[in-house]
Amino acid sequence: MTSAGPVSPTGSADLFARAQRVTPGGVNSPVRAFNAVGGTPRFIRSARGAWLTDVDGNDYVDLICSWGPMLLGHAHPQVQEAVTEAVSRGTSYGTPTVPEVELAEEIVTRTPIEKVRFVSSGTEATMSAIRLARGFTGRDTIVKFAGCYHGHVDSLLAQAGSGLATHAVTSTPGVPEAFVAETLVIPYNDPQALAAVFAEHGHKIAALITEAAPGNMGVVPPLPGFNKLLADTCREHGALFISDEVMTGFRASRQGQWGLDGAHEGWRPDLITFGKVMGGGFPAAAFGGRADVMSRLSPEGPVYQAGTLSGNPIATTAGLATLRLATDEVYDHITAAGETIKAAVTETFTAAGLPHRIQATGTMFSVFFRDGEVRNFDDANAQSLPAYTAFFHSMLDAGVYLPPSAYETWFLSGAHDDRAIQTVLDALPAAARAAA
Ligand code: PLP
Repeated sequence: MTSAGPVSPTGSADLFARAQRVTPGGVNSPVRAFNAVGGTPRFIRSARGAWLTDVDGNDYVDLICSWGPMLLGHAHPQVQEAVTEAVSRGTSYGTPTVPEVELAEEIVTRTPIEKVRFVSSGTEATMSAIRLARGFTGRDTIVKFAGCYHGHVDSLLAQAGSGLATHAVTSTPGVPEAFVAETLVIPYNDPQALAAVFAEHGHKIAALITEAAPGNMGVVPPLPGFNKLLADTCREHGALFISDEVMTGFRASRQGQWGLDGAHEGWRPDLITFGKVMGGGFPAAAFGGRADVMSRLSPEGPVYQAGTLSGNPIATTAGLATLRLATDEVYDHITAAGETIKAAVTETFTAAGLPHRIQATGTMFSVFFRDGEVRNFDDANAQSLPAYTAFFHSMLDAGVYLPPSAYETWFLSGAHDDRAIQTVLDALPAAARAAA
């Protein structure tokens, strides 16, 4: 059990009602609202290791991990110590600082990028990478894949996976048609669609952006060689290849998704975006890549980009501590915990006669509530959402907090120990039966 201070006099239900009066939907990011699965989101008052404790005093094994960032688990003592020490020296100066240089060096060392610029969210990272690609190439058109989510960037909110799929919308009011007119959307894992879009529009394409391995329609690994094909196609047409590793970066493996394919296949993206794990639970993200492309950024070059809190000393301290503590053993532990859970899902779902498909890339995995391979967004959409809803609530009642959407990755951490895993395993049989 976690030690977490007094239980709130008002529980999650009361807080949710209060929140709905002052915040749209009662939440600050849509999927948190439980719209897809119904019911009341739990208001969390503390977290430690693999566990969340809500304001009602209930403990849950956390399979959301803040939607990816908490690679080491919650309140890791060494991360906390580093952050506490940093806070004691002030929280933001608006000047260059030591931790941002060290975090940049750590990222450049681990990944195939030469230069990196920090921002505060993954959305800012992809937005800035797109602007830089347009500025560098002098072209406007962007290619993206249906089901890939790159944050709520205007021009990228077309068929953007999880959050929008959860709320049954394909794009959003508020984005002028002209903004998405320059965005071409093609199906994922489809070399023919790729060839066709480049054959027709290649001369005006500034960049192709892809999730390095999509995790926002559930985990849909790139077919072998697919990312290489993207890199080669972009080069052939003078477009930049942007690999969005906001989710997979330092998560799918120590070197992200690139460590699982590009490192062996001998290609590298022109630009990569990062977020989540590299902020260690604080708002930090980044984009980086080829030195000649990055040198087009202000103040070296003409493409403007800036941020009051970019490279914030507390966020970069947390990120640096997290990356330094993210050893091979941590990834091995998460892999082993994932294997145990995947095997139990297979066993219990099969016993219950519940159609399912587990897909993974490195340490990341998700469960689709349908049979057969999921290669793209259409496949991901052909799963049973009512089955997921029944499963989700049964797991929650048994003390396991899954993402409240069928389109999400199940995240684990280095702190998911035997007791946490056992809690998940114990909850599975009844949940599978409830969903069948
Ligand atoms: N890119 C990917 C692949 C993501 O998964 C996300 C968020 O889930 C983003 C970009 C946007 O990041 P943020 O939510 O920090 O703006």
